[in-house]
Amino acid sequence: MMSSAFGLKLFNSLTREIEPFTPVHEGEARVYSCGPTVYNYQHIGNMRAYVFADTLGRTLQHRGLKLTHVINITDVGHLTSDADEGEDKMEKMAATQGKSAWDIAAFYQADFEADLARLNVQQKQHPRATEYVEEMIAWGKSMADEHCYELDSGLYFDISTVADYGKLARAVTEEGAEDSWGRIKKLEGKRNAGDFAIWRKTPEGETRQMEWDSPWGKGAPGWHLECSVMGEKLLGFPFDIHTGGIDHREIHHPNEIAQNQAFCGCGGLSEARNSGANIWMHNNFLVERSGKMSKSSGEFLRLQLLLDKGYHPLAYRMMCLQAHYRSELEFSWEGLEAALTRLKRMVMAARKASEAQSGWYERPAEEQRKLSLNTSPKLVPLMEQFNEAINNDLNTPEALPILEAVLATKKIDPIERVNVAQWMDEVLGLNLFGLTREDLRIRPKSADITESEIEEALAARKAARAEKDFARSDTIRDELAAKGVDVMDGDPLGWEWKLA
Ligand code: AMP
Ligand code: ZN
Repeated sequence: MMSSAFGLKLFNSLTREIEPFTPVHEGEARVYSCGPTVYNYQHIGNMRAYVFADTLGRTLQHRGLKLTHVINITDVGHLTSDADEGEDKMEKMAATQGKSAWDIAAFYQADFEADLARLNVQQKQHPRATEYVEEMIAWGKSMADEHCYELDSGLYFDISTVADYGKLARAVTEEGAEDSWGRIKKLEGKRNAGDFAIWRKTPEGETRQMEWDSPWGKGAPGWHLECSVMGEKLLGFPFDIHTGGIDHREIHHPNEIAQNQAFCGCGGLSEARNSGANIWMHNNFLVERSGKMSKSSGEFLRLQLLLDKGYHPLAYRMMCLQAHYRSELEFSWEGLEAALTRLKRMVMAARKASEAQSGWYERPAEEQRKLSLNTSPKLVPLMEQFNEAINNDLNTPEALPILEAVLATKKIDPIERVNVAQWMDEVLGLNLFGLTREDLRIRPKSADITESEIEEALAARKAARAEKDFARSDTIRDELAAKGVDVMDGDPLGWEWKLA
């Protein structure tokens, strides 16, 4: 296999091979990640997609590349089925809540961005689809004659006009003839079941909250068109990497690719760059034991719910990093608890090492970074192992124990350990050197005891033990247990207590 200058190898869903990463533009990396449809809160499964995309972005930056990373906001055009059926998700929620579609979009976008920040996702460029409608219409016009046809309901893309349509889709190519479009009800007049809307006309006599004039009548753009247009406008074709969840391999991304081929007049997909991006990457799903994660059934697993139950959001990031992004990950509260404990241990070890290095926290961030680059020869083998794990298609579950090994190394100057651990955390994004014990000890919403009450009780218990009044000390311990506080005598990390 050809080796790239960066040693980084990534799985390309389009070629189904692990390929060396070579930037399209020297010294730069350009990444597009399909963002959320902002008609509702995001569940933590959705957020796995952005933890993955962020880890990828951090890795590219770590290799010294200037990163341009876009996560778009779909605020129009996405129907309740990915395959052009059903109602518009935004307008449906607007009607349910008695608000405007614009207000719904603004509210859920802000909530999404807050979740990104809580998960330490660095990426800040979130263009909204409604800001690019003019460009979408121009794109539609440029493809219309050769690749599209009009029906009463709008302008449709004829998938037979591009080579290799659906190369990315697994359902078609791996599961054989029961094609993935078999599930799509045939719309009267469609030439192929898989043809999709570029523009959806507002039905005669109706008004939509979000609609624009176009050569094909008043209406709204199709969801797939948005990503093609924003990707091309913001990153240029071909850009380096396009990401999304595995569900997008079946319909959304094949359709994006078909439009990109049509727009550029480029050929078949034997050359990946004709698809608009050199590499297409997809994260697997976060699932619940009961099945697919959903916003409508069972407990709606939002990041806020995790917080309400006393879990720091970065414990969820840890949980994601403990699995390879291409593996399915099953969510459980026990799993999250274990991830939180692991994070606590790492944070305490990081703190111990950095406190041994007096003045570390007082140094400006820029200086900390410079020091981090001053690598310790003794830790170089661990740094190499870490790079190897990440180079191997972002193998974060293998990278984590290497970081733990750095923190645990004995007989090495703490500053060297701090430097190297911080260098590794730039890729993983766990904020090990920013988090404190207090940050991680989140009180569940249901807890009816305050932090100072706990500290008071613990002080009283300490005094009782000093006086050898063990009966009193045990009583205090039991009282705390009754309020959901576990006292942890002799905890190796000096954690003292945790909420049960
Ligand atoms: P949506 O808002 O439905 O377009 O989804 C936003 C992103 O989350 C997309 O990249 C989806 O592929 C991804 N996604 C949806 N559900 C899950 C899940 N359970 N686990 C991981 N990623 C998901
Ligand atoms: Zn998209």
